[in-house]
Amino acid sequence: MLKIISRLLVPSRCILCHTEGSGICDSCRQVALEARPSTCYLCNALTKDSQVCASCQWRTPVRRAHVLYRLDVSAESVVYGLKYDGREDVARSLAKALQAADLPYYDVITFVPDTNQRRRQRGFVAPQLLARELSRLSRKPYLELLERNDHVPQVGAGRQARWRQVKGNFRYRNDEVMRDKRVLLIDDVITTGATITECAKELKRGGSGPVYAVAVAKK
Ligand SMILES: [Zn+2]
Ligand SMILES: [Zn+2]
Repeated sequence: MLKIISRLLVPSRCILCHTEGSGICDSCRQVALEARPSTCYLCNALTKDSQVCASCQWRTPVRRAHVLYRLDVSAESVVYGLKYDGREDVARSLAKALQAADLPYYDVITFVPDTNQRRRQRGFVAPQLLARELSRLSRKPYLELLERNDHVPQVGAGRQARWRQVKGNFRYRNDEVMRDKRVLLIDDVITTGATITECAKELKRGGSGPVYAVAVAKK
């Protein structure tokens, strides 16, 4: 609570260079952060418009996954600010960057949820902050379509283990009719792609149309 109040009183400063004004200043967005090339999110093959490549399509219902930045030291600071400090000003700057990116048409925005335990501990869910800000800019609704089971820690798991672990971790929770709605699914960092894939499968199970994913960073 105190954190939130102090944030209202203190002007926003760039998380990278500390210039007053916004969560990420224009110059850091252009210079310090490296735009990530358009690739398949599963195998990193270069593709057009961040499409999933032909050989990976059978593994995932995700059609395209747009990643803003290469996960280097600068992008790590940005993600840290979003994920562990819940900086809404950083979320706002990232939403602007997403809004400026060439994303496919979508009807609703949703996000990769956190466990209830972690949500309680932190008081926020990083991808949700981003979803909310993007919803404000794009005037598209954002819905909590998924929930995450409370067990299974993810940190430290190897690549194969991660795919196994993530199975059954998410549940479609919305009663709304999603038939054919195009969904934009937001996450902070993509590592193996297992989380995004599993979430997209659940969204499809819930009746969604095409699922497009976006993330802040990936190696
Ligand atoms: Zn800056
Ligand atoms: Zn691929």
